[in-house]
Amino acid sequence: MGEARRIHFGSRVVRAARELPAGAGIPNVLPLVQSVAFDYGSMREQDAIFGKERPGWVYGRYGTPTTAALEHALAALDEVEEVVCFVSGMAAIAALLDIAREGRGRIVAQEDTYGSTRSLLERLRAEGADVAFVDPTDHRGVQRALAERDTTLLYVEAISNPLLRVVDVAALAELAHRAGARLAVDATFASPALLRPAGLGADLVLHSLTKYINGHGDVMGGSVGGRREQISPLRDRVTSDGAYLPPHEAWLVVRGMRTLELRMGRQCANALALATHLAAQPKVARVIHPGLESHPQHELARAQFGERCGAVVTFALRDDTRDAAYRFLDALELAASATTVGDLYTEVLHPATSSHRMVAPAERERMGITDGTVRVSVGIEDPYDIVADLDAALARV
Ligand code: PLP
Repeated sequence: MGEARRIHFGSRVVRAARELPAGAGIPNVLPLVQSVAFDYGSMREQDAIFGKERPGWVYGRYGTPTTAALEHALAALDEVEEVVCFVSGMAAIAALLDIAREGRGRIVAQEDTYGSTRSLLERLRAEGADVAFVDPTDHRGVQRALAERDTTLLYVEAISNPLLRVVDVAALAELAHRAGARLAVDATFASPALLRPAGLGADLVLHSLTKYINGHGDVMGGSVGGRREQISPLRDRVTSDGAYLPPHEAWLVVRGMRTLELRMGRQCANALALATHLAAQPKVARVIHPGLESHPQHELARAQFGERCGAVVTFALRDDTRDAAYRFLDALELAASATTVGDLYTEVLHPATSSHRMVAPAERERMGITDGTVRVSVGIEDPYDIVADLDAALARV
């Protein structure tokens, strides 16, 4: 027997601390596995893993243990078979729409989606895809658009951004399935705390993890969930496009997600209190919140979400001008100006110049996103302070 080969310091230091010491117990917090590559001990084992005969990690872009833990958690919360995570909500939406377009069938999409989703759909249409825009609350119109051509996908938002229209997921699933199409629901504004669309018949459930699921404004991510055979092409796509959610981001999302239920409870209650207050203010022309009886889908919202009808409030100033909106927004002290929603602090946005800036002005006006429209993502602060901040700003209009 030859003497064991001596490993020099220069090599030992490079290979130091590769694994956690054994017997330390199961960590209560999800371990953050940053490793891009994995050692299998033998080529036979590696071959079995790469050949998909055995489960295992191949390479950071194909899947990592920490991101996979988030995917499993999201699948359980949304009650779907499988979830795949992306570097952003838009990466998830782009992958889904691109695959739908390759199916060559029509994409029927809600007309008032998030601005970047709308722009993406318009770009696909300009490139030759058959994209039809519909009002998802007009079921006859949806049915017509689905029936006109072979349709692959019906795409809607559970609570739309920023007009907060609520869609009837079960009814739309039935319409889509009758036409041989799949229903995709972007449930970002609802989060799994309010709505689990797969249980109502949706085939694909999307989230911008950047919003309520993370909830802390410090990470971007996106996800698509559904049946295994629906998710498999998306997983192939995320691998080849290099848009897989890295482990550190996934770890942050898991940490934020743990308080989702608490945050949503408080934020939805605060939002309803603010909406009710704003509706009584003379300088406010119109308040949109699904929890208000004046909301056109109020009954549906209560049936689908229960007591908590979302944490965003959109309203239009009576002086429906950009000038008035700017004066109002500049006067806010507690609420942060932010081009996002879903964080634990209150944040405001002027859709016409930010989230829906790229939508043609005439189309924006037609949809109801006027120059005096303001969107408030209500946070977990004391509701009295939120209302006082907006009241003080209204006084400046
Ligand atoms: N879906 C909705 C409803 C959104 O509001 C947004 C972003 O604001 C997105 C998707 C896109 O998500 P992300 O910003 O993570 O790409």
